[in-house]
Amino acid sequence: MDLVIALYLLLLVILGLMLRQNRNLQRALADATRPFDDYSYLHDLITGFPNRHQLQHRVSPLLSQGQGQYSLLVLKIKNFDEVNRMLGHSHANVVLTQIASRINSSLSQCKEVLILENQNLPIRVCHLSGVDFAVWMQAGDRAYTAEILAQQIEKTVPEPLLLHGAAVEYQIISGIVHAPEHGDQLAELLDKAYEALQQHEWQHSASAVFNPTMMHFNSEKLRMMAQLQTAIGTDQLQLDVQPQVDLVTKQVLSVEVLLRWQHPEKGLLAPKMFLPLAEEMGVIYPLTAWVLRQAITVLAVLQKQGQSVQIAVNISSRDIIQIEFVEQLQQLLEQAEVDPAGLMLELKEDALMADAETARPVMQRLRSLGVELALDDFGTGYSSLAVLRELPIQQVKVDCQFISGLHRSESQAAVTGAIIDMAKNLQLQVVAEGIEEEQVAEKLLRLGCTRGQGFLYSKPFALAGLTYWLAQWQSSHPSAPDS
Ligand code: C2E
Ligand code: MG
Ligand code: MG
Repeated sequence: MDLVIALYLLLLVILGLMLRQNRNLQRALADATRPFDDYSYLHDLITGFPNRHQLQHRVSPLLSQGQGQYSLLVLKIKNFDEVNRMLGHSHANVVLTQIASRINSSLSQCKEVLILENQNLPIRVCHLSGVDFAVWMQAGDRAYTAEILAQQIEKTVPEPLLLHGAAVEYQIISGIVHAPEHGDQLAELLDKAYEALQQHEWQHSASAVFNPTMMHFNSEKLRMMAQLQTAIGTDQLQLDVQPQVDLVTKQVLSVEVLLRWQHPEKGLLAPKMFLPLAEEMGVIYPLTAWVLRQAITVLAVLQKQGQSVQIAVNISSRDIIQIEFVEQLQQLLEQAEVDPAGLMLELKEDALMADAETARPVMQRLRSLGVELALDDFGTGYSSLAVLRELPIQQVKVDCQFISGLHRSESQAAVTGAIIDMAKNLQLQVVAEGIEEEQVAEKLLRLGCTRGQGFLYSKPFALAGLTYWLAQWQSSHPSAPDS
């Protein structure tokens, strides 16, 4: 009898387990086909704010109607890793919820922003995932509203939060897209808003609004530029120098500073591997400022040693449109107490000619500091004589392509000769770049060019070896007693 009862009870337990399993299965199925009113489907489980599903649900009808102008703001909290590390995940989640609430309160006056939920109070922020939030708004005829709002959020929301007596600091960074201009599907709009956010963050650019040229910077290039910015001031950035000599006396007239990047993964990179991209993305100036600081420090040492060697630094056309450029250079020169005439700034001819109007006044201000100016890669930028005459330059550096092989081709010699004559007629010093062979130097002298730079005299070498190299060179090429 006991056995029958035991079997009966066992049967009940097995049936119970099967029923529970069935209920779990049903719940899982319901999860997969959850209706829109299901709280956990439409809310972020950490902050309780509306999630991406809810945003999609609210925004899709607006987009499919094809009427109206909208803006989507994506907001990312920066430095949240730090918060996580400091406070641990559970406390960090409390902070995240507080930040979401702060963003939401900061939107309370903005009528254009879509209200996603209106229970105890209107909720206008969507918690996309992790530390990312989104705000959807009507753009109407004021496309700038989103930008102004984003700037306000970036500025006002991140006040330090106090948690368990510790002040927690964070930043907010935004990316903006407009619909239908940038897309008519939420997924596409979000992708582009993230693209804009990333560039806004890495380039420190004022505008967080997406523009189609951004898509051409792939994430690898963006990553590289972010790495470059952090490389400034570390020993990853290195400077080489290459001397420029008098072709007759062999005296060293100047040394040109050339940048290299010892990339942590890619190895040693020549300037062409990273400078054009840095220029294009508008992140060149911090690099130039760093190079200038190093160069002026070396110039101060040389001048104290009584050397009359100039230091030449390559400047990008993007640098001279930087408002603080001239002033900062002046400060550097004054702090180092150097004679400014010892510094030569080289600007590429093609870049300069592209916007000579903008460049000319800045070049004049640079000249009035006392520094000298050279036109680099001369011959490649099709300068008109008229423009050349008006630029306050002292030197042109004839590009390698007019120099190498000069002695082998009479027609090339004729072209190079004409370039040299033109520069000399404008009372400019002429320097030949890329001299590799003795015959080239001889030909240049016959054509009237007496200054040159190239592997024949020295390949670029580490800046740290400059004093030693100069001492060696000068002892084997002593200057004439009264030269
Ligand atoms: P550049 O100013 O015309 O510099 C001369 C380039 O020619 C250097 O290349 C140098 O190594 C190379 N060179 C010198 N002599 C010879 C030679 O006899 N034969 C050959 N084949 N090449 C020679 P590098 O160092 O790769 O620099 C390339 C360009 O990158 C520079 O051209 C300059 O425009 C730019 N650059 C370098 N450093 C900087 C920098 O700090 N800032 C900026 N904005 N540009 C830089
Ligand atoms: Mg140069
Ligand atoms: Mg050059």
